[in-house]
Amino acid sequence: MKIAIIGGGISGLSLAWYLLKKDSSLDVSVYEGMKRPGGKIFTDSFSGYLIESGVNGFLDNRPMTIELARELGLSPLRSNDSARRRFIYTGGRLRKLPESPISFIKSDLMTLKGKTRLALEYFTPKTVVEDESLSEFAARRLGREAYEKLIEPMALGIYAGDGEKLSLRSCFPKIYNLESIYGGLIKGMLKMKKTSAGPGGVLTSFYSGMQVIVEALTDNLKGKINIAHNAVSIEKNGDVGYRVNFDNNISINPDVLVMATPAHNAAKIFNGFDSNISAELNKIPYPYLVVVATAFHKDNIRSNINGFGYLIPTKEGRKILGSLWDSSIFPDRAPKDSILIRSMLGGAKSGEDFAHLNDKEIKDLVLNELSDIIGIKGEPDILKIYRHEKAMPQYNIGHIGILERLNSIVSNYKGLYLHGNAYKGIGVNDCIENSFNLAERIINQQ
Ligand SMILES: Cc1cc2nc3c(=O)[nH]c(=O)nc-3n(C[C@H](O)[C@H](O)[C@H](O)COP(=O)(O)OP(=O)(O)OC[C@H]3O[C@@H](n4cnc5c(N)ncnc54)[C@H](O)[C@@H]3O)c2cc1C
Repeated sequence: MKIAIIGGGISGLSLAWYLLKKDSSLDVSVYEGMKRPGGKIFTDSFSGYLIESGVNGFLDNRPMTIELARELGLSPLRSNDSARRRFIYTGGRLRKLPESPISFIKSDLMTLKGKTRLALEYFTPKTVVEDESLSEFAARRLGREAYEKLIEPMALGIYAGDGEKLSLRSCFPKIYNLESIYGGLIKGMLKMKKTSAGPGGVLTSFYSGMQVIVEALTDNLKGKINIAHNAVSIEKNGDVGYRVNFDNNISINPDVLVMATPAHNAAKIFNGFDSNISAELNKIPYPYLVVVATAFHKDNIRSNINGFGYLIPTKEGRKILGSLWDSSIFPDRAPKDSILIRSMLGGAKSGEDFAHLNDKEIKDLVLNELSDIIGIKGEPDILKIYRHEKAMPQYNIGHIGILERLNSIVSNYKGLYLHGNAYKGIGVNDCIENSFNLAERIINQQ
């Protein structure tokens, strides 16, 4: 049985790994369009700096990524304790995100009115809504201030998304379940003895960055990964199996075909095969996002850069979404006394605004923002711009319906599977868990 996986991001690579782990006699090949596997995972390393161009890490509260790392002989690295200190920029300055109910009560992040409204969530009756946006959910249960200062920043940090459009149930199923199972967030958290309804866990990576897991998978899959194979179309190949055509004039005929590319790429490939699949895939938007890495000598920054970084509610009207203080999150990300900061621009709310800016315009904009927010002085020691033309999939209202329709169409094609972070979980942990489960499904269904 020939299995072809199109797309060599962490989803495609980990799926190949689990398939072969379960049955080493399988004929599995990965086809990656670019000259390097890894997709959104790429660690840039130069002059003593280690910079993640995209994926920063994964949370340690779910076991699969850590288990996979250990199977590959890697040692995961938990972020520094100081990285528990997260900030929200509001009212013109950085305010620490409280880590416990007591610190929440004492914190100046929210007004007394906002805190009281939030506390009343306990008494808000349960109303299970099939699908609603984060802002609609917050308006119903938490109040506008909690939305602006707690919920929207979470949506920005994970999805670079628009909380007025993102679906609570698709993006944060655990929060949805707190209401549907326990009758409310506070009631659910009390029952589960949890202090936060957020994702939780400690950010984890590797000493030399996330690229390490891609390299380990690539080494272990030697001879099974074909780079610079950009799939352009697929066809049926008789009654069983498929034909995949690449832009280098090569074609393959697998029995099982897994499409592990982003949804917008898959939509193009499926176009001449089944336009209904393409139409559904095209409904999943991917905003433009720019990651700008800068570094400054510690004496050239007014604020104390000790923590994870900060996110900025839209209401503040700033141009950047927030910044991560990489040199304070993981050790040895920058030379001694140098502070490495990665700022994000773009996302679902700004459309293509930043796509049209040249590098000089992006640089000026970010330096102005950093000057206002954390008080940087002078030119940065380094500045590097990483553009993600189509960054992360948006699980907007209606995402559940898209998945249901895709499932019902794709299940008519034996041996065809959709995989990757466009569907059920956007993070690395989700991709790896979904790979583990899909490998089992593929083996059982053949
Ligand atoms: C800026 C940024 C930061 C992020 N940070 C985090 C983070 O810190 N933690 C986290 O958990 N998640 C993060 N994410 C989400 C992250 O993208 C996913 O967790 C994960 O890396 C997605 O992996 P994937 O394999 O599903 O998709 P991708 O990484 O997008 O891989 C898909 C692959 O398919 C290939 N491909 C596309 N079209 C074709 C074609 N026609 N033929 C062949 N190959 C093709 C692509 O080249 C790519 O290699 C971040 C995303 C972005 C954009």
